[in-house]
Amino acid sequence: MKHKVQEIAPNTWCLKEYGVVQAFLVVGNEYAALLDTGDGMGDLRSEVREITEKPLYVLNTHGHLDHAGGNSQFPVVYLSPNDFEASEAMCTYAMRKWYVDTRIGRFCPEYLTEAQESLIPDRPYARIGIREGMVVTLGGRNLEVIETPGHTVGSLCFLDRKEHLLFTGDMANDGTIVHKKNQFYGSTVETYHRSMKKLWNLDGYDYVVRCHGEALKTKDQIKKLIGLTGKILDGTLTGIRDTQGIRDGVCYRLEEEYPGMDFWCDGDNIFDNDRRKN
Ligand SMILES: [Zn+2]
Repeated sequence: MKHKVQEIAPNTWCLKEYGVVQAFLVVGNEYAALLDTGDGMGDLRSEVREITEKPLYVLNTHGHLDHAGGNSQFPVVYLSPNDFEASEAMCTYAMRKWYVDTRIGRFCPEYLTEAQESLIPDRPYARIGIREGMVVTLGGRNLEVIETPGHTVGSLCFLDRKEHLLFTGDMANDGTIVHKKNQFYGSTVETYHRSMKKLWNLDGYDYVVRCHGEALKTKDQIKKLIGLTGKILDGTLTGIRDTQGIRDGVCYRLEEEYPGMDFWCDGDNIFDNDRRKN
């Protein structure tokens, strides 16, 4: 299996796994950074080396298996310490195979066998924690670490002021999910909403760069998700319990105002107070 590679901004590449999930390679004058490692399929390390020979930092937006699944191809990975546990518990071969079977099997079944065969085995690697305010310096270009708990407790965004990009992981997808903590290491809608307001108030970017769906969207995507989740919090939007593929919970939609967008949670993880019960 080889990733589909596309340059989405100067010295910024999108590496797509069967159109299901994407990682990003950001190249500066001296160093490069790989943001996420996908589900752990194929030889991502060699594919990165075909694009750049520069020394590489490997960073995770969060610890879910389709973002940290390929971490073991690299000796050291930087991520939020709040997602160390997610990256350890969720990225096993068995969990990654489940993801491939359910996602590739559903969205592109013609590639299912190839995807299953290209899953890499589990290997040990070192995790190093990164925090708000830290800056990954690449030479003429930096990535600022922004802590945005929500989709997971340790979700991070990375701000690239030079190219006016904010790498949002799974925080600004068209179908964003906030599971509860004891399920997929999520949090609450209230926590998510607070993080999105923080991102909206942040200067220095015009586009969000997402790991699922269309890679690039304008900053307005953040405002829409603030609007949608605000209506969940003030009780003016009610969701419906639903199951769609691996999504199983309460789905909120407001098609007229936010076409093509939906938001999922577990129904009992809306407010931070609920979290004590979960
Ligand atoms: Zn995720």
